[in-house]
Amino acid sequence: MPKTYYQKNRKKILEYQNEYYQKNRKNINEKTRKRFKKWRDKNREEYRNRRRKHYWKHREKILKRAKEYRQENLEKIKKREKEYRKKHPRKSRQPYRKLRFLIFQRDNFTCQYCGRKAPEVILETDHIYPKSKGGKNKIDNYITACRECNQGKGDILLKKEEPA
Ligand SMILES: [Zn+2]
Repeated sequence: MPKTYYQKNRKKILEYQNEYYQKNRKNINEKTRKRFKKWRDKNREEYRNRRRKHYWKHREKILKRAKEYRQENLEKIKKREKEYRKKHPRKSRQPYRKLRFLIFQRDNFTCQYCGRKAPEVILETDHIYPKSKGGKNKIDNYITACRECNQGKGDILLKKEEPA
């Protein structure tokens, strides 16, 4: 079988291709990235599925590499985490606990829906005007509810007006 042009000049062609790639690397990579992003935006679900599949297939390798990376760059990572915490401080639960106690006390440790009391039921606080609808985290907007009543009610508004 006669050799094709490609087979005859394979080495030269590959060399040339490699040279071209090295010269235009930035451009080519950018183009590839753009094409990939376009595809990803169109196929979000597919992209997510592929990522998930890939993760579960190579999970051990990925986790191992992440661990190694963390050990090698521990100082850098810790510094970054510190900076992140400075910008996004952890919210203390303490003020809320105090507020919760005041709410229970005001409502006489009684579920305001069914009237059952503390040891008999687990008490929780419930937003009168739901947070998801813009309700505030103020004592006037809270009511004592047992867990059962609280879970049954969800986001239904009470007839009470929104507190000012
Ligand atoms: Zn109740």
